[in-house]
Amino acid sequence: MFKEKNNFAKKREKMVKKQLKPRGIDDENVIRAFKEVPREKFVPDHLKEYSYQDGPLPIGDNQTISQPYIVAEMVQALQLTREGVVLEIGTGSGYEAAILSKIAEHVYSVERIQSLADKAKMILDELNYQNITIEIGDGSLGWPVGDKVFDGIIVSASAPKIPESYKNQLKIGGNLVIPVGSKASQTLYKVKKNSIENLEKINLGYVRFVPLIGEQAW
Ligand code: SAM
Repeated sequence: MFKEKNNFAKKREKMVKKQLKPRGIDDENVIRAFKEVPREKFVPDHLKEYSYQDGPLPIGDNQTISQPYIVAEMVQALQLTREGVVLEIGTGSGYEAAILSKIAEHVYSVERIQSLADKAKMILDELNYQNITIEIGDGSLGWPVGDKVFDGIIVSASAPKIPESYKNQLKIGGNLVIPVGSKASQTLYKVKKNSIENLEKINLGYVRFVPLIGEQAW
């Protein structure tokens, strides 16, 4: 057990060194989070040995845990501070929520598939992450409970266009990171809300995500 834990810790260090740093992940808080969160806990049992490989993995229900580098790039683009409150769309395995919880004050996460949300909650509870709130719902409409605005919004499923709800639920000065395009391939955008009228779009490159399914999506 100790040996296995130690082995994963080594793989985690190697992932940061070989997959993240050379591709421009240099935010100290992001690096620290990736060194701390045990990705193997969020991966199905039969795939645990591949937890630190450079790619996505299936998590059931036709969904995936994203490639570590893509998660790192998206999280870094949010430019969160320790006081930041962040909305994640697409809880999936719960891994990205765990990474965000090490950086921000609170993470709100929405998942449309009940079984994935239940499993993610169980794992996050076991690991004692206390600043994450998960809700089941249609995340294309943003946070489903009450009125909230966020310092950052991270969407880990692809949309045909940017849902209006995100523009309204993002604070001025905050960043939205979202893949937008066709179902086959998308452009990852960082959208900075400079003012209510002024949204500045920065192209972060091509990506391939599972679709965001909902009222303001596919
Ligand atoms: N962030 C996840 C992780 O760390 O494992 C990976 C997310 S996976 C690539 C995309 C997730 O988005 C899936 O779990 C899928 O069910 C979810 N999803 C798709 N459409 C959604 C919607 N409208 N609202 C909430 N979640 C949605």
